Amino acid sequence: MQNLPGPLKAVVDQLSSLPGIGPKSALRIALTLLKMPREKAGGVGQSIIDLRENLCLCEECACLAESSPCAICADPGRDEHQLCLVPEWDALLAMEEMGIYKGRYLVLGGLLSPLDGVEPGHLEIERLRRHLSKGDISELVLALGATLDAESTASYIKNLVDTNYSGVEISRLAQGIPIGAEVKYMDKETLKQSLLHRQKV
Ligand SMILES: [Zn+2]
Repeated sequence: MQNLPGPLKAVVDQLSSLPGIGPKSALRIALTLLKMPREKAGGVGQSIIDLRENLCLCEECACLAESSPCAICADPGRDEHQLCLVPEWDALLAMEEMGIYKGRYLVLGGLLSPLDGVEPGHLEIERLRRHLSKGDISELVLALGATLDAESTASYIKNLVDTNYSGVEISRLAQGIPIGAEVKYMDKETLKQSLLHRQKV
C-alpha cells in the first residue's frame, strides 16, 4: 500500500492494525467510509470516540459498563453469595446470554500464562481478595475454560482460597466442555449443561 495518498494511507494503516483486518480489507473499509455522506462517516468516527469516553470499568466486577456499579452489580435480585470468575468480558456476555446464572461476576482480565509472562499481578486478584474478604461469598464458580492457562489460573485461585478464605466453596464448569475450549466460544446449550453440572474443586 505504498502509493496511497497520505490521508488514505493513514486510515488504512490504522484499520489494518485491528484484529482480523488485513491491508486489503482495510482499504475496502476506508473507501467505503470515503463514499459515505460526510455526516454518516462522522458518526462512525464519533462513536469510536464515545466508546472511550462513555464506557467505564465497573468497580465491583471490572466489566465494561456505562456506569459503575454496572447493571448486574446494582441488581438486588442477583445472588451476592455466588461469584462467577470469567477471564474476559465476552465470557460474561456468553454466561449472561444463557440466562440461568443469577449470581454476580468478576472479570479477571485474562488468564495466568507463565509462558507469556502473565502473572497474578496482571489480573484482578486484588479485587477478588476484596470481594472474598467481605465474607458474603459462599461459592466461587470458575468459568475459565478448558485451556492450559485456565488450568493454571484455576489452581492458583484454589490455592489462594484454600489458604485464606475457608468456607468458600469452589466449583468449575463441568469437564464435559471440550479441551481447549474458551467460554466465549461455547454454544449456549453446552455452556448451560456445564454450569448445571459444575463440579466441586
Ligand atoms: Zn459490575
